Amino acid sequence: MAQLVLLPGKDRSLARRHPWIFAASVDRLRGRARRGDTVDVVAANGRPLAKAAWSPESKIRARVWTFDPDETVDDAFFKRRIQAAVERRQMMPELRGQDGLRLVHGESDGLPGLIADRYGDTVVLQLTATGPEKWRSAIIGALQRATGCTRIYERSDSDVRRLEGLEPVTGWVLGEAPDEALVIVENGVRLKVDVVAGHKTGFYLDQRDNRLLTRELAAGRATLNCFCYTGGFSLQALAGGATSVLSIDSSGPALATAADNLALNPQLDASRCEWREADVFDSLRALKSDGQRFDLIILDPPKFAPSAAHAESAARAYRDINVFAFRLLNPGGLLMTYSCSGGIRSEYFQQIVADAAVGAGRDARLLRRLSAPPDHPVALHFSEGEYLKGLLCQVD
Ligand code: SAH
Repeated sequence: MAQLVLLPGKDRSLARRHPWIFAASVDRLRGRARRGDTVDVVAANGRPLAKAAWSPESKIRARVWTFDPDETVDDAFFKRRIQAAVERRQMMPELRGQDGLRLVHGESDGLPGLIADRYGDTVVLQLTATGPEKWRSAIIGALQRATGCTRIYERSDSDVRRLEGLEPVTGWVLGEAPDEALVIVENGVRLKVDVVAGHKTGFYLDQRDNRLLTRELAAGRATLNCFCYTGGFSLQALAGGATSVLSIDSSGPALATAADNLALNPQLDASRCEWREADVFDSLRALKSDGQRFDLIILDPPKFAPSAAHAESAARAYRDINVFAFRLLNPGGLLMTYSCSGGIRSEYFQQIVADAAVGAGRDARLLRRLSAPPDHPVALHFSEGEYLKGLLCQVD
């Protein structure tokens, strides 16, 4: 097995169990390794540290599979890690019985570059790095065994694959496309999930708990849901008794699914619901000048800052939408505002939202910090895993 030798002093982050080895920390590769091969990671003095997947084209030159230099990375390794990830979900009470569930959350489940989401009897697999790509068939076997699912679809089409020198790969790897649309039930609401063409693996499972909170807060409130995608927050707001729900997204296909989702839930009052295909930035401005006001606003934008390098421009975008949202709230109104940008830390996000309130001339208080549910765990040594942060604020 090839040896990846670190530069002197560059074993510190590994000692803190952070799983990424950056190119700038690498002295050399002793021996030969191909993309995705497992390499022995050693300190400058030769001390064994870990086993990692080699990724010659990425700035993240290797991702650690195990911090135990004696552990073997083989099919059984993936069986163990995937089984443990699935059992972690079964342990958490709020995750039991969920149709839509993240089963494997990459680094935070000890499986860097691997995402697996379950929607009913279908598992969607996403490989984003050379390591899991190499172990693809072991991973597929382990997922099938741990879940008993009858279908697995691969959605390895995330942009980050390009940084690893990997081409996009999509398709059914177990079973075939079902005849009927895949529908999950999330806290009483039926939702269509398009695993082939939807965003991410088809749905934003990370907002499940926050959508439920929306239902619990929505009674009697005129609601605005910005960046609504397929309407998850909107339908929960209707279920919770919102007096009206205006939902905005720039994606026609997402809104078409949102309309289907509304039809799938005849218990909801469709007359209170309006979908609008538009740019949120423009719409917020227009709503303000039309004199419209709301009692509950949800802002769940896409990732404005994929990495820290984009933080400044992203901060401006977050500030702008939050200023507008604060201006559109009636007294006592609630703002649920999110950032899913890995490049924006939670303290920074709070500062941006505080600045936005000042910019809008509103006094507001933070009622609750919001995050992803426990099927998106955060490894304590991997703060990048805490990508989703939200704030529930109330204005005076
Ligand atoms: N809240 C959703 C997920 C939102 S994802 C849920 O719970 O499922 C972000 C959404 O923002 C995507 O649907 C994307 O189409 C939309 N979007 C991105 N930029 C936009 C813009 N400038 N204006 C309106 N929608 C936008």
